[in-house]
Amino acid sequence: MAAIVIVGAGPAGINAAELLLAGGHRPILLDEGRQAGGQGYRRPSPGLALDMATLMGSEAAKYAALHARFEALRTAVDYRPGTLAWGIDGKTLHLVRDGVATMLSFDMLVLATGAMDRIAPLPGWTLPGVFTLGGAQVALKDQGCFIGRRVAFLGSSPLLALAASQYRKLGAEIAVIADTTPFSRKLAALPALMNAPRTLLRGLAYLGDAMRAGVPVLHGVTPLAIEGHRHVETLVLRDRSGRERRFACDAVALGYGLKPETQLAELAGAQLSYDERFRLWLPQTDAYGRAAPGLYLAGDGAAIGGADAAEASGALAAHAVLADLGQARPLAETRARHRRVTRLRNFQAGLARAFAWPVEQIRALPDDVILCRCENVSIGEIRQAMAQALGPIEVNRVKAMTRCGMGRCQGRVCGPALQEIVAGERALVGAAAGRLRGQAPVKPIALASAVGEAP
Ligand SMILES: Cc1cc2nc3c(=O)[nH]c(=O)nc-3n(C[C@H](O)[C@H](O)[C@H](O)COP(=O)(O)OP(=O)(O)OC[C@H]3O[C@@H](n4cnc5c(N)ncnc54)[C@H](O)[C@@H]3O)c2cc1C
Repeated sequence: MAAIVIVGAGPAGINAAELLLAGGHRPILLDEGRQAGGQGYRRPSPGLALDMATLMGSEAAKYAALHARFEALRTAVDYRPGTLAWGIDGKTLHLVRDGVATMLSFDMLVLATGAMDRIAPLPGWTLPGVFTLGGAQVALKDQGCFIGRRVAFLGSSPLLALAASQYRKLGAEIAVIADTTPFSRKLAALPALMNAPRTLLRGLAYLGDAMRAGVPVLHGVTPLAIEGHRHVETLVLRDRSGRERRFACDAVALGYGLKPETQLAELAGAQLSYDERFRLWLPQTDAYGRAAPGLYLAGDGAAIGGADAAEASGALAAHAVLADLGQARPLAETRARHRRVTRLRNFQAGLARAFAWPVEQIRALPDDVILCRCENVSIGEIRQAMAQALGPIEVNRVKAMTRCGMGRCQGRVCGPALQEIVAGERALVGAAAGRLRGQAPVKPIALASAVGEAP
């Protein structure tokens, strides 16, 4: 029997596992998290009595259903929680669990690794009290705690209003919801947003609730700085009319949409291409998620689509695995799922217009802003390196000369902004600035684990 490994126990991975099980296989399902569910459907830590039904609101039924389906297959699959896949060589995965390194051979690999926040820096973003938007949600859903008592939500993402609503429900004060994209761009994106009208209405409802509660909701802002003495104290913005606004807060949640976690896919042989709509490098797959022989991608790790698309694309990847093993499923079943994934990913393309990555704002950032937090590299250092005779104009060369993207996060945080700074300096268009290559370890691990030593 083929050895099938699924990395990621979110909606995509769970759906893939379910279908493979139904096809008579016993896949290995591993996740670095201690509990299944992934990012959006994250479970609270054991023993924490968090009211998830209230927190999840209109998504509570889907949340409960996914976890019930996971419980039904937990012992039937080979489930390995707390297991990080940090590298791939050929048909071998490098894993670490509780600090102990192991290797795992596979015949077929389904990567359902999800996404992470995309971040644009601004003056003061390295102050204690600044979190990614996803990090703010993880603190709430996983640990039942706020990142601050009075939180400002800044960026451009539909998740700003969602996360602010979750914080408000549990008693936090919201200083402001500030979006860098003007409202007119949201109206222009309406035709694409109609691909998922219920989700659109839900997003509008979050905004409406915040405004009724007296929370300032601003569109088209220019972030100026996060200020504070040793800790966040104030978020400073310029509003659409050009007026400077100051919002007292003790934490900032920062997010500009999501970027797929593609490093493992790249190490496993997937090709990536630049997508102008999202301004992201995305792995190339066929309609079922096949990216290379024996390699299947699903969920937000393949293309941002949201939880419903992740479920359907996880099932499609399993269809592909089964078909490649000579166990093809009825065409009608796969077609319906494929239509659903296409529709929901088109919706996300609309969201990418409505909540745009603020290219011009990033390119205009002052020299003294830190771009790479791991290696403490400023934007000025990047510009200086590029200004030299025969200076670098491709992000991997810029990394080699400045160390930007060379630290613990491997450029997962600074990479997208670095790309825009580099492109802006030389007026490069589209893919011309290049892409930071994925490297193992794809996430930080102890050196002892990498060389196979027990802690
Ligand atoms: C922080 C965050 C918060 C979000 N919150 C919401 C929300 O509140 N509402 C909403 O509608 N959408 C939310 N989203 C988007 C939503 O999570 C996704 O659309 C949906 O969960 C995608 O499902 P998925 O299965 O593709 O990936 P995910 O649900 O992200 O699951 C991927 C899983 O892969 C695991 N993984 C990744 N890399 C590795 C590795 N190298 N080794 C082992 N395991 C690995 C992760 O631990 C994770 O459990 C959020 C996204 C993020 C990043």
